[in-house]
Amino acid sequence: AKAGGGSSACFYSPEMDKAARDRCVLEVDLRRAVEQGGISVLYQPVVSTATGLTTSFEALARWIHPQRGPIPPDLFISIAEECGLVPELGRQVLETACREAASWPSHIRVAVNLSPLQFESGDLAATIVEVLARTGLPATRLQLEVTEGLVIRNVDRVFEILQALRDLGIQILMDDFGVGYSSLGYFERFPFDKVKIDRSFVSRMLESPVSYAIIEAVIGLGKRLGMGTVAEGVETAEQMNALVQLGCTHLQGYLISRPRPAADFEHILRAVP
Ligand code: C2E
Ligand code: CA
Ligand code: CA
Ligand code: CA
Repeated sequence: AKAGGGSSACFYSPEMDKAARDRCVLEVDLRRAVEQGGISVLYQPVVSTATGLTTSFEALARWIHPQRGPIPPDLFISIAEECGLVPELGRQVLETACREAASWPSHIRVAVNLSPLQFESGDLAATIVEVLARTGLPATRLQLEVTEGLVIRNVDRVFEILQALRDLGIQILMDDFGVGYSSLGYFERFPFDKVKIDRSFVSRMLESPVSYAIIEAVIGLGKRLGMGTVAEGVETAEQMNALVQLGCTHLQGYLISRPRPAADFEHILRAVP
């Protein structure tokens, strides 16, 4: 049976395993949520280790399912990627984040995650320019977080688009560095503004000498190449102290704050009169 709903191409049958059927049902509901503006955005602060002040917020998509409650972003983003919903979902998150950030003090940036698939559909640079114009956010206050997976296909074209975006004044961040198929060669091909050290290394750094050494190496590389380093998933003061000691430039994690609605950060975001 076709699982209802619009242009969905999702079919399920009794032979499918439970997980696959589940995704199929979720796909229909996700399509509806995207169409009806049901995806919201939370913000998580990133602080400078030099000043202790918030320099940016990462925008993180949220979907509250009417019956099931919050669906983990890792799950609904991967469903969106499989069923062609990524371009529209990504555009909505970008627009919401830029509109919100346009009213923040001018020294605070907003970071938006890009799926590799957004580089393959339509003219990404044109979409971003259009959203910036419509929301009034200066390009210099937008950061885009891209993952290594991005560069697997069509390397030249991807770096061309990234360069065009960077020329506009947008900062490009390498997200989740160290997981997946990292290649140090990417840094030779493209001047990333910052590298984000994946949470998995930060969470192990005080128990695993290998994780610690990897973090130390990435921070050292960042210094040599003039790239800032953002440690993700900082949960304890001990991790924070160790990262500061190593010269990490920015921290993000539950120790500082969980992702929250922008309204909860009024004390940071109240624009200077
Ligand atoms: P990410 O880009 O690596 O985002 C950081 C994730 O780490 C977020 O999970 C955040 O809530 C979580 N996090 C931050 N600090 C801590 C901490 O101290 N401890 C722990 N345990 N977790 C922490 P979230 O919001 O569940 O998002 C998961 C992933 O979903 C993101 O990972 C990103 O890959 C993807 N995602 C979220 N929103 C978007 C979006 O708008 N577009 C795209 N393409 N992907 C998105
Ligand atoms: Ca991210
Ligand atoms: Ca990340
Ligand atoms: Ca991650």
